[in-house]
Amino acid sequence: MGGLVTGSGIAGIGILVGQIPSVLHPHWWAVAATAVFFSLFPDVDTDSLPARWFYRFVVLGLIALALTGQQRLGLSLAILSMLPLLDHHRGWTHGRWMPLIAPAILGVGATLAWREEISPEWFAPLDILYYSAAVLGWYTHLLLDGLFRLFPQDLD
Ligand SMILES: [Zn+2]
Repeated sequence: MGGLVTGSGIAGIGILVGQIPSVLHPHWWAVAATAVFFSLFPDVDTDSLPARWFYRFVVLGLIALALTGQQRLGLSLAILSMLPLLDHHRGWTHGRWMPLIAPAILGVGATLAWREEISPEWFAPLDILYYSAAVLGWYTHLLLDGLFRLFPQDLD
């Protein structure tokens, strides 16, 4: 729910700054979905509903990549999707700086994989909107997990 609120908020900002034409545009839904995905992602490190759905989609993705002969991309997806399982619950996926670092690495990696060149287009406003959706979606999870306090003097 937190991810949904954050996602529609960022997608709404996308409309305000003129990067997304309207709520009906696919970018609005994709930006909101990015925030929702990253708000659920941290709990992929434990037996949870998001984890089961995450790995169901990973398996579908791996099958699709295998059938279309994209072994290199499939291997990357397999390695990346196992990373949350290397640590205990609320390990690295709940790290303070991970929401900033991991989506940046992922974005640069995806850019290199698909665009195969470095260009100023990297930092297009729409890319920054997607990156913000990932970062803020992820931080929404950490905030709601109680890892950050809006009011530090609150009792447990
Ligand atoms: Zn969590």
